[in-house]
Amino acid sequence: MVVGVLALQGDFAEHLAMLTRIGVEAREVRKHRDLESVDALIIPGGESTTIGKLMERYALDKAIRARAEQGMPIYGTCAGMIVLAKVIEGSTQPRLGLMDIAVIRNAFGRQNESFEADIPFTPTPERPVRGVFIRAPIVAQAGQGVEILSEFEGKIVAVRQGNLLATAFHPELTDDERVHRYFLEMARD
Ligand code: GLN
Repeated sequence: MVVGVLALQGDFAEHLAMLTRIGVEAREVRKHRDLESVDALIIPGGESTTIGKLMERYALDKAIRARAEQGMPIYGTCAGMIVLAKVIEGSTQPRLGLMDIAVIRNAFGRQNESFEADIPFTPTPERPVRGVFIRAPIVAQAGQGVEILSEFEGKIVAVRQGNLLATAFHPELTDDERVHRYFLEMARD
């Protein structure tokens, strides 16, 4: 299996390093042609408005949507979660709109711009994952087919809908590989 990491902006290098450490083949995706050679895709954290605009500029949005509809697994972290969402509260920014969720950007407020906490994550019940939040979004609403994998302080911070996974936090900035491993299991199924 080859896992692509969308490498337009944001912390794609950390995702590539995590995948390499786990031992899967990982590749940068910059052009829509790059998508043809990957079996799954990670959309990193960064600035969702920039990632959305660049996806449109390089015609990656259409290509990713088409692959997602054929079942390609996609995992979005933070800004990646935002671009996967159908609804972004108060914003018309470009997006993939693949997940039946409404998100609120920068939802933890100024006081809490970035923080770390132990986060329950239902696929890893043995112990929580370390959540790194950086100007993170939350899921304000989730549709029927959306499974809630994590709530923190009453806020939804990880969701799955079929082949799509999204976390408001950044496991790629920790040395805990379990969220990436969960995504790879999803991708192998
Ligand atoms: N606040 C950023 C946005 O709205 C996301 C931050 C992140 O990815 N760490 O795009």
